[in-house]
Amino acid sequence: MKRFLALALLCSTVAAAQAAPRGVLTIRFLDVGQGDAVLITAPEGQSLLYDGGRSESRMRELIRQYDIKNVSLVAASHGDGDHITGLIPVTALNKPKFFLNNGLAATTQTWGRLMNVVSQAGTQGLLAKDQTINLGSVKITVLPPPPGMPKNDQNLNSVGLLVQYGGFKALMTGDAETAETSAWLRKYPATTFGPVQVYKSIHHGATNGDNATWLKAVRPSNVVISVGPNNYGHPTQSALNLYRSVGATTYRTDLNGTVTVTVRPTGAYTITTERGQGTQGAGTPAPVRPTTTPAAAPTRPAVPSQNVIYRSCAEARAAGAAPLLRGQPGYSTNLDRDGDGKACE
Ligand SMILES: [Zn+2]
Repeated sequence: MKRFLALALLCSTVAAAQAAPRGVLTIRFLDVGQGDAVLITAPEGQSLLYDGGRSESRMRELIRQYDIKNVSLVAASHGDGDHITGLIPVTALNKPKFFLNNGLAATTQTWGRLMNVVSQAGTQGLLAKDQTINLGSVKITVLPPPPGMPKNDQNLNSVGLLVQYGGFKALMTGDAETAETSAWLRKYPATTFGPVQVYKSIHHGATNGDNATWLKAVRPSNVVISVGPNNYGHPTQSALNLYRSVGATTYRTDLNGTVTVTVRPTGAYTITTERGQGTQGAGTPAPVRPTTTPAAAPTRPAVPSQNVIYRSCAEARAAGAAPLLRGQPGYSTNLDRDGDGKACE
């Protein structure tokens, strides 16, 4: 009996531990297989779900696993099934106040069902426009599709979200393609975007999503690829190479399961993963100095054996590790001031 009680206690502790803690910003890149679903929970407890993946039953499991509640806003980056399907159970259960989207109806049954649920829940439609949304103390900037995108193309009308909290930035832009990211770069100054500490890979690592010009503005420290088994070849080698070339640490929901980012009010953050060894990272946003390399090095260990962090070149030299080549333990773009792949030379 005693043992049973202890076990029951342990189980309840484990279950409770899955809910987003108060006092910090929690961003979960939920493992929904091939698709996107990002749960953003404010330190005060209210949540925003940006996309829901392709499966209602999978989302129901995730609702239980992560105790998803108090969702006050659901957002669809665009109307494709691998992004909107899981919004159906979340909307039915949470009756969120708002549904944010690009204003383009999809022609699928899934879209019709989502619209029914939205209306039954009394959820108000919100057309994406230039606006900021306060999710508790978290500032969410909406990036609406820029003018001139063809209205028959859902990907090119993806709605992006920029999440800001205490010096920390995360950016996610659905399945936007190069024409849309280029138009965003014409519309907004590059400093609107980067540097971002956490970035969602566009379009599950497709070739037509992320591109060098865009990533130069985004300057991501960590990239999360939301991907599952698929016939499209996602994530593509060219996308993986691109992320490596900007010195970002890459996480993948197919290999790592759900990827969770926790951000303290100072902006310091940690990244933990459901599966996979050594995929935990942490860091502190560097002071914003757009044209110079930040002095404080975000710490982004890739695997445990490479869990070496040098906050400065002085530290790396003291350890006898300089120069550090890209890919070596301890290398970081912040130490590589001239960006030639060789830090502290
Ligand atoms: Zn997609």
